[in-house]
Amino acid sequence: MSWSCCKCKVAMEEVDDILMTYNGMDLPDADGWRCPECKQEFLEEELVTTELNEAEQMLETK
Ligand SMILES: [Zn+2]
Repeated sequence: MSWSCCKCKVAMEEVDDILMTYNGMDLPDADGWRCPECKQEFLEEELVTTELNEAEQMLETK
């Protein structure tokens, strides 16, 4: 499965070194995706949630 950046329309690279912090604490590196163009990072979880939200919105507006 692969994702593309909705802004740049390029394939995102799978990475495993996404830095995360929570309440000022460093969390372990996370798996996710990074756009080679704009360097936007997405966690796998976030992407799935976004996709689901978009699918829901499409259904609602129909
Ligand atoms: Zn991008």
